[in-house]
Amino acid sequence: MGSKNNVNSYITLPCSKCGRLVENCGESAVKSTCSVCVMGMVGMPSEPVQKVSTGRPAGWHFMNEFVDKDGNVFHKGKEQKKLKGTLPPTKVKPVVRKKTKRRSKEEILLAREKEKRAALKKAVQKQKDFRL
Ligand SMILES: [Zn+2]
Repeated sequence: MGSKNNVNSYITLPCSKCGRLVENCGESAVKSTCSVCVMGMVGMPSEPVQKVSTGRPAGWHFMNEFVDKDGNVFHKGKEQKKLKGTLPPTKVKPVVRKKTKRRSKEEILLAREKEKRAALKKAVQKQKDFRL
């Protein structure tokens, strides 16, 4: 009751890698690793090698004619060496994904609610008319 001892559940331990003091280790923690070392461990080595973009759109080799940014001409994916540099590079349009309109459950419920309210309004209006 009103004790300041809740700090005790956390202890400070030296990082097992670099010795940096790591605060707020759980009581049960025997070994701790500081955030810097964790970053180092998680960072570089396991990072996936990024695919080098060719600058060509997906499916470029299915196109009847595709000219890459270097002027290489391809007809259905086959390089036409003779045509190199004779055509302007094909402009690659960014792929715009169409949003599929799918109503969420919430939206459906809202629509239903709206309908109900409209029906209610009508009913109320009818009553009013009746009273008049
Ligand atoms: Zn460390």
